Amino acid sequence: MKKMLIFLCIIPLIFAGCSKEVEDNKKGVMKIEQSAEEIIIKKVDDKVTEKEIIVETPEKEITEVEKINLDEVRPNEIGRVMIIMYHSFGKNEKQFVSTPEIFKNDLIELNDLGYVLVSLEDYVNNNMDIDAGKTPVVITFDDGHSTNFKVFEENGEIKIDSKSAVGIIDSVYKENPNFGREATFFLNGNIVFGQKEYVDYKLNYLIDNGYDIGNHSNGHEDLSTLSADAIQKTLAINKEKIESHLNGYEVKTLALPFGKRPKDEKLEEFIYNGKYGDIDYNNIAVLNVGWNPASSPISKKFNYKSINRVQAGSMEYQLDYWIDYFEKNPDNKYISDGNVNVITVPENLEEYIDYNKIVDKELILYERKQL
Ligand SMILES: [Zn+2]
Repeated sequence: MKKMLIFLCIIPLIFAGCSKEVEDNKKGVMKIEQSAEEIIIKKVDDKVTEKEIIVETPEKEITEVEKINLDEVRPNEIGRVMIIMYHSFGKNEKQFVSTPEIFKNDLIELNDLGYVLVSLEDYVNNNMDIDAGKTPVVITFDDGHSTNFKVFEENGEIKIDSKSAVGIIDSVYKENPNFGREATFFLNGNIVFGQKEYVDYKLNYLIDNGYDIGNHSNGHEDLSTLSADAIQKTLAINKEKIESHLNGYEVKTLALPFGKRPKDEKLEEFIYNGKYGDIDYNNIAVLNVGWNPASSPISKKFNYKSINRVQAGSMEYQLDYWIDYFEKNPDNKYISDGNVNVITVPENLEEYIDYNKIVDKELILYERKQL
C-alpha cells in the first residue's frame, strides 16, 4: 500500500500564514484543503520527519489527481497560457491577416501538440476543465471581419463557408472532438461579419455552439482619446446591439480597439464597468493587443484588467515563435492535472500563487523532477 503521511495543521485562515506553512514543508507532494475555519495540509512523501504523524489515509480521500503520474504528466497549473489574436483572412499572411490554410494548420498543430481550446471566460474564472497533460489555449478574433464567419444558402438551407474561421474550427472539431470548439469574436458596431441579413443567424449560431462574443466598442474608437461619457456610450451601445439578437447572453469581455486604454486612472475604470442610460456593463476580462502568453489565472501576475495576447503569424514573438518556445521550454506552459477542482503546481513556483484565486479548490505542490 502506498505510504501516505498526513500532516495536519490547523491554522487560522490567513493566506500569508498559509503560504508560510507551505514553504516550511518543501519536500514531497502536498495537498491543501481549505474550509471556512481551517486549512489542512496533507503531505505525501516517503520520508518521515519528527513533526509528522503517520496515519493510514482512508481510500475515499485519494482524489483523482493523486492517481496521475506526476513525473509523467508534469502538471503545472501556474504555467503560461496563450490567448491567440486573429483578425481577418486574406490571400497572403501579413500583419493582422492570416489565411484559411494557415489558420487550419495552426489548429491542427495545436491539437497535435496537446493543446485544447478553452473559453476566455473559463480561463479568467480558473475553470478550465480539461484532461491531464493538456494545455489550454484561447482563440480570439477582432473586428468581425466577413472572413471570420461567412454563410451561403443552398436549397433553402444556410451553410457555413468552410474557409471562414467558424467553418474551419467546426471542421477541426468534427475530426478532433477532444480539441473542443471555442473562440471569442470581438465585434464592433455594424461590422458584424459583413452579411447584414445573417447577423441574427450568425450570432445565435455562435452562442448555441460554444463560441463567445465580446465587445470591441461601437465605433472602434481609440478609448484613450474619449471622455468618461463617450467611453461608456460606445461600450454600452455595442453590448446592447449584440445582446439584442440573443436570448439571455451577456457580453462581458472587452478587447481594446488598437490595444489602447485611457491613461487617466479614473477614466480607465470605465473600460471595466460603466453605465449609459439603462445599459450597464461589467467586463470580466480586458484584452490587450500584446505579444506574449498570458499568466495563469492563479498567478499573482494575472490581472483580468490587462490580459496580453499572442498575435497569429510567423514573425518574431508571434504564434509560431511561441509554439516553438513551449516545445523547447515545456516547463513554462500550463499543463493540466485533469481535475478542475484541484490545482497542481511544482513546488518551486509556489511563491507565485495567488491564494485568493484558489480558495474553493484543493492545492497540490509537488517536486517536479528535472527533464
Ligand atoms: Zn480592432
